[in-house]
Amino acid sequence: MYTYDIQYDVIVVGGGHAGCEAALASARLGAKTLLITQNLDTIAQMSCNPSIGGVAKGQIVREIDALGGAMGKITDAAGLHYHMLNTGKGPAVHSPRVQCDKKIYQAEYKHTLEKQPNLELIQDEVKELYFEGSVLKGVVTLRGTKYLSKVVILTTGTFLGGVIHIGGVSFPGGRYGDTPSNFLTESLKKTDLNVLRFKTGTPMRINAKDVDFSVFREQPSDNPFEPMSIFTAPFERNFLSCYITRTTEKTHEILKRNMKRSALYSGQITALGPRYCPSVEDKIVKFDQAPSHPIFLEPEGFNTQEYYIQGFSTSMPEDVQRELLISVPGLEKAKLTRAGYAIEYDFVDPMELYATLEVKKIPGLYHAGQINGTTGYEEAGAQGLIAGLNAVLKINGKEPVILGRDTAYTGVMIDDLVNKGVNEPYRMFTSRAEYRIMLRSDNADLRLTDIGFKTGLVAKEYKQSFEEYKKAVEVFKSNPKAEFEAVNMPAWRVESARKTAVIDAMYSGYYDRFKKDAEKLAQADKIIIPEGFDPSAVKGILIESSQKLKKVRPQTLGQASRIPGVTPADIQLLAVHIERYR
Ligand code: FAD
Repeated sequence: MYTYDIQYDVIVVGGGHAGCEAALASARLGAKTLLITQNLDTIAQMSCNPSIGGVAKGQIVREIDALGGAMGKITDAAGLHYHMLNTGKGPAVHSPRVQCDKKIYQAEYKHTLEKQPNLELIQDEVKELYFEGSVLKGVVTLRGTKYLSKVVILTTGTFLGGVIHIGGVSFPGGRYGDTPSNFLTESLKKTDLNVLRFKTGTPMRINAKDVDFSVFREQPSDNPFEPMSIFTAPFERNFLSCYITRTTEKTHEILKRNMKRSALYSGQITALGPRYCPSVEDKIVKFDQAPSHPIFLEPEGFNTQEYYIQGFSTSMPEDVQRELLISVPGLEKAKLTRAGYAIEYDFVDPMELYATLEVKKIPGLYHAGQINGTTGYEEAGAQGLIAGLNAVLKINGKEPVILGRDTAYTGVMIDDLVNKGVNEPYRMFTSRAEYRIMLRSDNADLRLTDIGFKTGLVAKEYKQSFEEYKKAVEVFKSNPKAEFEAVNMPAWRVESARKTAVIDAMYSGYYDRFKKDAEKLAQADKIIIPEGFDPSAVKGILIESSQKLKKVRPQTLGQASRIPGVTPADIQLLAVHIERYR
């Protein structure tokens, strides 16, 4: 085995959405960072839908942006269709969504990583973690190279033990066309980490050359539109439209006739998939009464005829997929370019993690993204950023950053993952956030950018401009029509400040009420449970509560109170006991 002679601070394994943000965050903080990924040409590849944002996910992208991450800016560089979702509801849940050019998105991320100081990239596959005794010291790759580092962040997505299914055909793959990561999953299974299995799926893609677009409902891009990143100046581009149509009686008849041939219903797939993102065969079984289901045709890029068919995810055999396709009016002559498929993959129980995303049993190892049982680029990106940040804070002996449930959707997600675990792929919804009125897409920077400055994630050159922005929001809160002359910030930010001030005023009643709850929560989150604390020593505590506390090993009283099954009475007992213990 050959040992590379550079000692890194942080090694990130995997160049997907989590890996990119983890590596960028770590390098931005000055840590010597290495990103190892199987294929440099698939950096930030969108395995499924080429779109970023959406309900609750758009808010997460703005949170990444507010903490100095790249996802929002790259989305704007690659955007081909902008749409603000949920505009029929209150502004708290307005959610930006951007259809992207898949190739531009990848190229921009790769270039951003290449330009980043303190960050090196290498194409190889990590085979196993490298330990000296029980101490994690780095990784070993397929080529037999040993790379040394202080911490390792695993962001391996759907690649661990990935198996692809199309009807009765199945074969190994991390994603169609990519090899799975089988050595690493086998080595993880040899540790005492709880390795579990999920499945997800994707629809077919078509060549739009022979599609009759005249029969669809056209959905043009928003005009005017809001860029995804607050750092993107308003711009002009020839955006593309999406198209809406529906399945027919014929589609449903084909699905029913072939149900036993679907990998999902033949018993070939045993792992659980996301309930909220069902395959088209699932929809027919579970919503049998519905005469049709919507289908969205979404362009994959400016320089391609390929369209993604949202709503048509399937693991039917190829012949059935072709039959299904031409059963939809307008698609009678459409040709399949890529078949839909389902994929089963391994992930690690997120209850193995602290809220810093560090693995409890292996100090110095962090997990982020789909490896934690989540699904979605945005969820992955946000976890990557937090793992990268906390890894460097640990190396530097500094306090970790744990975002509260009242501060960010990212905080809600991580809190849910580490306290409740997952029994299906976890995606973010606005309903998961009890303080969603406070967690809006328009105010992500007001919630998070100061944390970005404090930790070094956000460049200090931006500070003056941001301070002026905050001042503008305050001015507009007292008088929404006030004039504000911007000195250090661009003129478009004045109108963003006005909008945020107006929304804040609209929710001020709710705000005060939620703030009180949130303050109580924050108080409980400040009460630290000492390391090595034995819950069974708490007099009168229920055995079930004690077992749950032992399993999760919460770091604060607030976190303990959110573990399902731990009763409020037991939390009281715990609080008294900790007080005495200190
Ligand atoms: P990924 O984007 O999967 O990236 C993982 C990276 O790690 C890859 O670059 C891989 O090459 C690399 N890697 C893996 N193992 C190693 C190793 N040992 N050494 C070096 N590099 C390694 N999300 C949704 O929100 N909605 C959907 O409908 C949806 N459908 C999906 C359908 C399919 C078929 C697939 C495959 C994914 C789907 N997703 C969907 C999930 C979405 O793609 C992921 O949530 C997202 O990509 C996760 O990001 P990640 O960074 O965790 O992993």
